[in-house]
Amino acid sequence: MTRIGRRSALKTTASIAAGGLAFGSALSTTAAAAAPGAAGAGTLNVRWIGGGVVEVATPDNKQLAYVDAWVWNNAAYSVLKVDRPAEFASPDAFASYVSARSPDAVLVLLTHDHGDHIGDYFDVLKALSGAGLNVKTSGQSDLLRGGLVQKFKDSGLDPAQIVVNGGAGQNFGGMAQHGAMQTWLVPAVHSNLLGFPSAGFVIQIGGVRVYASGDTDLYGDMRMIADRYHPDVALVCAGGGPYTMGPRDAALACSMTGVTQAVPIHYGHNMQVKGVEAAAEFKQALAELAPNATAQVFNLAESRAITV
Ligand SMILES: [Zn+2]
Repeated sequence: MTRIGRRSALKTTASIAAGGLAFGSALSTTAAAAAPGAAGAGTLNVRWIGGGVVEVATPDNKQLAYVDAWVWNNAAYSVLKVDRPAEFASPDAFASYVSARSPDAVLVLLTHDHGDHIGDYFDVLKALSGAGLNVKTSGQSDLLRGGLVQKFKDSGLDPAQIVVNGGAGQNFGGMAQHGAMQTWLVPAVHSNLLGFPSAGFVIQIGGVRVYASGDTDLYGDMRMIADRYHPDVALVCAGGGPYTMGPRDAALACSMTGVTQAVPIHYGHNMQVKGVEAAAEFKQALAELAPNATAQVFNLAESRAITV
């Protein structure tokens, strides 16, 4: 009830800001065609692969999304001294693991080109498409259709086929669809090695909206992500260190985006970011800053159902 009340309040505020209730209703109708107009409901299975890399699946495994692709080279297993599961140990093992779930669609989302996100990206795409799976990828349009296009070709991948929207990817506010999944690209205050903008995603999968922050600092327009997309679950970078916001700002990001389930990620995968203490600090800050949200702290490689 608390959640519904808070979201109704948000919608009312948006209507007033748009110039009154009548115009507000018309705006809502238009916006609904382009972006989710209300909170979602459903269950997702979430698995933390390590660092900023996460698997999100519908309970029947028919729709499967990966946020970034650093798997067999993911250093979190050595940093946190956890045995890497066999399915994350090689491209072949990973392809078998995904194939065994018989997904209708697999979507690999690339937030940006830093090594701890793109590290195994081309090999993941090659392995999954080589296994005959219906796999596509999305990311910021000029990064995919410009910066990385030769790397797709060098990997034997046709960018017009493997990249959503006929090779275009998506830009901010733009949409992509693969299978029954939709994504919108949202800003991240971060960068790419190749100079194109870094990004986050809102993913609609199984009736649930997931905000995947990518690497980012905290910024004020995260509140607009709440107003426009009504995300339910955040996968939020929380590791601090030299490059991104830390646990307390990550908790504030969850408050600003209005999510009810909050998963801290992007910690414990190198010596520059915080270790598991990031999750404890995040949980404590979330209780203070976003008391309506539940912290979902994962062990490395753990899978868990999250219901909203
Ligand atoms: Zn980065």
